[in-house]
Amino acid sequence: MVRLNEVRRNEVAVEAPKAFDAGLAFIGVIRTPWTSRLDCPRQGRADGPICRIEVYEPWVAALDGIDAFERIEVLYWLHQSRRDLVRQSPANDGATRGTFSLRTPVRPNPIGTALVTLVKREGATLSVRGLDCLDRTPLVDLKPDRCLFTPLAPPQKGDFETG
Ligand code: SAM
Repeated sequence: MVRLNEVRRNEVAVEAPKAFDAGLAFIGVIRTPWTSRLDCPRQGRADGPICRIEVYEPWVAALDGIDAFERIEVLYWLHQSRRDLVRQSPANDGATRGTFSLRTPVRPNPIGTALVTLVKREGATLSVRGLDCLDRTPLVDLKPDRCLFTPLAPPQKGDFETG
């Protein structure tokens, strides 16, 4: 059940930290058809609509080579999430589970991840399928799917010896 910032029966909120450790720089924005969390899919689907990932300067050069990958891992900041729940009731039925046992968007650091299919790249814009976030969700990072990533050269004996 989609939440719009309420605390449900038996859920537990804590006092969130006053300050945060990491200074994230959003590297772009995600454009999707969904403007309400009520309409957004809970997880992206391979046959979902084409969405756009628009990368900002000066990070566009970092896209070089990404076209070689069919699947890309997208990390995004679920910017409308509350961040203070340690127990949550996904079904809103009074039964709760710890936040880290759920893929809920409500988490202390609301990072979402999705493995998407790259449809095409046009300059700073990637068209992909498989997203599940609101229109204008901030982009945190892009990585090639780890299953498809092959290191350029296998590690050699001694590479990791520290003496
Ligand atoms: N695929 C990601 C993951 O597993 O890490 C996110 C899953 S989360 C269950 C997806 C839900 O987060 C959507 O259905 C929507 O209700 C909510 N959501 C999407 N974009 C959001 C945003 N920018 N801020 C807050 N909530 C968002």
